[in-house]
Amino acid sequence: MYSDKLLPVRLLLFLRWATHTMWRLFPDSQAWAQFEKPVSGTSIWLKEKNPFENHPFSQDPDARLPEDAEVVVIGAGFIGGAVAYHWSKLGNSPLVVLEKEEVAGGSAGRNEGLVVMGRYYYMVYETVMRYLNKARTDLTDTCRDQLAHEFAAAYAKAAYANAELIEQTIREEGIECEYQRRGWVQATERDRLDRLEDSVRMAERTGFNDWVKITREEAFEISGINTPYPSGYSRGAATWHPAKWVWGLVKVALRSGDVQLFTRTRVLSIEDQGERYAVRTERGTINARYVVNATESATPFLFPSFHDVILPMQTQAAFGRSDGGTMKPAVGISGPKAFFGRHGEGILFGSDATRVPDREAGRNQPSRFITKYVITQLRELFGVEHVRVANEWSGTVSYTPDEYPIVGLMDDKRMYMIGGLAGSGSGVSFNAGRHVVQKILAIEGHDYYPEKYFSPSRFFC
Ligand SMILES: Cc1cc2nc3c(=O)[nH]c(=O)nc-3n(C[C@H](O)[C@H](O)[C@H](O)COP(=O)(O)OP(=O)(O)OC[C@H]3O[C@@H](n4cnc5c(N)ncnc54)[C@H](O)[C@@H]3O)c2cc1C
Repeated sequence: MYSDKLLPVRLLLFLRWATHTMWRLFPDSQAWAQFEKPVSGTSIWLKEKNPFENHPFSQDPDARLPEDAEVVVIGAGFIGGAVAYHWSKLGNSPLVVLEKEEVAGGSAGRNEGLVVMGRYYYMVYETVMRYLNKARTDLTDTCRDQLAHEFAAAYAKAAYANAELIEQTIREEGIECEYQRRGWVQATERDRLDRLEDSVRMAERTGFNDWVKITREEAFEISGINTPYPSGYSRGAATWHPAKWVWGLVKVALRSGDVQLFTRTRVLSIEDQGERYAVRTERGTINARYVVNATESATPFLFPSFHDVILPMQTQAAFGRSDGGTMKPAVGISGPKAFFGRHGEGILFGSDATRVPDREAGRNQPSRFITKYVITQLRELFGVEHVRVANEWSGTVSYTPDEYPIVGLMDDKRMYMIGGLAGSGSGVSFNAGRHVVQKILAIEGHDYYPEKYFSPSRFFC
């Protein structure tokens, strides 16, 4: 908070905020916000039975890993599910997915449930520019500006195609994941209004005009949020059941016969043996010609050299039965400090982006303080009358230093990764999964993830 202010002013503002929150907002909210005893730590998306629980061991306790595979995919979230799906459509040799827990048990099943159009152009430009200003002082201002624009354009082009590909796949495969496309309202604060204007102007100028400005009345009409200022609005964003999306992809993939899945199978190490990679797990070793790393925030745990490249950040959410106030269903809603969504008889809300140590990636350890703080916003923004929190969970997302994803080769051979999706996994993973599969199979196609921008080598020069 207050990142643009001088340190003494920041401290004073923080003290004022803390006093108001602790002595006013929290005590007031106790009258209308309660917590179940106990509150469940399971995300609402994972309450339903996982169709691939302990796969295939629940059906076949003697199942063994194959000794060889053309491709091993590590991780079964948005990214692993996407790679498996596209392989089942384009490949014709064995691909094995290894997941240390359950399919969609990581952030894929613990998120807010938005299908995003990726980050909007200005946001990508801004974060890349910030990084270049620090890391590429060898370049002139004009060069850095041009490069940041190139990065933003490449990202947005891939993300727009990703969103259409997702919608088309849901329709064609009949994946039942409660998909509804009604956009995403992102409310802003007074001191960010100029930024909103700039971002919308840049969207218009560059043609990536999914991102528009709407009036406070329009924001209320679309989402039910009460904000005194205009909002940003991503018109093409959608809502869905994120775990059902991944389960749907895996179901199609397994049907093909080329894809095998082993859950509760942790990969311990990967060794380059020349023509093959030895992928060692708790259940044995698979020799694979290609490896796709889809472990997202757990990547540095497996590849310590990524410690400063994939930064795990904790984000959390909660769900409670509630009247919901003015909040509308099936639309993405973000306030300046938290996100919200209405689902059935209740509401989902959450916040946070705190870096955690590599070994704690994937942890489920939400902060009750943050839940209580976001609750205070429910009344302010939506006039919520009551809420009873039943679920509270966290997950980790991963950021790269320039907050720009990595899609490409990790070595100069045949080991790929998709990662660093910066909390916008749905906006990158599906198209990126297709891209990697096309690369492995040497299939010609539009190059949505050019090496120049998306390769991890940009951090290892
Ligand atoms: C609270 C919250 C809200 C969010 N909201 C949204 C949103 O609304 N929209 C959006 O697009 N994104 C959102 N995100 C981010 C989004 O969930 C992530 O960007 C996305 O899930 C990351 O890709 P993934 O699904 O493949 O990662 P994960 O789901 O984390 O998958 C990685 C998998 O790898 C497995 N794994 C790790 N190490 C190993 C190993 N050694 N061996 C075998 N398996 C391994 C893990 O168990 C895990 O299942 C949110 C995240 C959180 C936490």
